[in-house]
Amino acid sequence: MKRLLALLLAVLMIALPLSSLAANFVPERATAYMEIKFKCGCTRGGTGAMIGRRGLITSAHNLYCHNHAQGLEYCNFYFGARSAGSCYYKYNGRFSYTVYNSFRNGYDSSNDIGYVVFESPVGDNTGWYAWLAGTDHDLNQEYVHIMYYDSTRHSKGDWDLAYVRSNTEIYWNAYAYDTGGGPVYFDYEGLDFPTVIGVYTSNDSSGHAYARRLTMDVINDMRADGAFN
Ligand SMILES: [Zn+2]
Repeated sequence: MKRLLALLLAVLMIALPLSSLAANFVPERATAYMEIKFKCGCTRGGTGAMIGRRGLITSAHNLYCHNHAQGLEYCNFYFGARSAGSCYYKYNGRFSYTVYNSFRNGYDSSNDIGYVVFESPVGDNTGWYAWLAGTDHDLNQEYVHIMYYDSTRHSKGDWDLAYVRSNTEIYWNAYAYDTGGGPVYFDYEGLDFPTVIGVYTSNDSSGHAYARRLTMDVINDMRADGAFN
């Protein structure tokens, strides 16, 4: 009994700071509209989510042109965007980025994930989501929340029942969203904090949308690059 009480106390100690953080956490503010230009000249809008003090995750196709296998010319980040001219926090400073697919053989959703590490601690302004890596959690038909920005930079949310596609991918029934790369997360009662499990990658003609799950290799690479510092 004593051990159980100690365990309960330990759980509470961990849960309490998260709960107090959750009261101030606004998912939209930790989610950026990305204004993207690649070296090949292509431009696109994207969505990315903070999961660490300096680290943002998104789809690889927001960091690497999947038509021409070219990297970024620039990317500006508008956190909590409300329109083309208004946002909660703008970042147009320096950052490094990593992608897990450089699309040399055309587009493929299976590793369409990448991350950004900002030179300054952007998360101090925006906050950041909790995260859950694929190997830590066997997903089995659970409701997920998808957030993305539309072409007028208004944030949109969607709920859907997600199914397992492979070790690293999930899918649900939805049409295409305006931008790719947005966070796919759990946010239901009983959970202390919105918890990102992947990024929206693509959709197909049969009405399925796909997400690449966050995996420990991504988290470990981000940690090594200082995303959580
Ligand atoms: Zn291009």
